[in-house]
Amino acid sequence: MQVYFLGTGTSQGIPVIGSNHPVCKSADPKDKRLRVSVWVSWEENSVVIDCGPDFRQQMLTSGCEKLDAILFTHEHADHTAGLDDIRPFFFRQKKDIPVYAHSRVLENLNRRFDYIFETENKYPGAPGVQTFAVNNNEDFKIGQTKITPVEVNHGNLQVFGYRIQDFVYLTDVKTIDTAEIEKLKGVKVLVVNALREEPHQTHFSLQDALDFIHLVQPERAYLTHISHLLGFHEEVQQRLPKNVFLAYDNLTITL
Ligand SMILES: [Zn+2]
Repeated sequence: MQVYFLGTGTSQGIPVIGSNHPVCKSADPKDKRLRVSVWVSWEENSVVIDCGPDFRQQMLTSGCEKLDAILFTHEHADHTAGLDDIRPFFFRQKKDIPVYAHSRVLENLNRRFDYIFETENKYPGAPGVQTFAVNNNEDFKIGQTKITPVEVNHGNLQVFGYRIQDFVYLTDVKTIDTAEIEKLKGVKVLVVNALREEPHQTHFSLQDALDFIHLVQPERAYLTHISHLLGFHEEVQQRLPKNVFLAYDNLTITL
């Protein structure tokens, strides 16, 4: 399995527009972070988790040529605003792109991208999606592979993370119930969000994420959904435990 980090930034991306913060001015490519998403490919499968406003640029940079499904975590714009840009995949693959999300998220996308979900007199240039509602405690399959939804809380908002074999991707976590942590047993690679040092109402801080990683005990953990306020990539990386890494855009890992 290959995991390609398409974006590792928080909602505004780094640099933040108009910001003079030193991290936003950094020349290190690892300090430039698009909105958060990963491309996961294994056997003949190629899926992305979330489809934010940088999706087009991410697909061009990563060289992704085939999209078998999109798994959505939740409806916030930094995770969904790129949905229109699945058009090239839709045209080339000549079929609706499967989209997996909580029914609440599917309803939200249906409102915001009504022309994509239109069934009558649909504009011929619009892409098509085939929707699948994800329910907690109900595994589903992509190809022959079991996908396990993992429910987390983003403040008061329910969010899904996903387990694919020994890979787990969780973003926008602030709290997670014990029963959900059970689903992470034996995970080799855990990706989880870490916003900044300071506590935040709806996101894990760096310490929250490190405490969570300590509890889950994956072989390796990668931090994502990072704010410029966390600091320079190289400096933060030096302070992390030996099996914990700050993810950065275009990092690829194999499991
Ligand atoms: Zn987010």
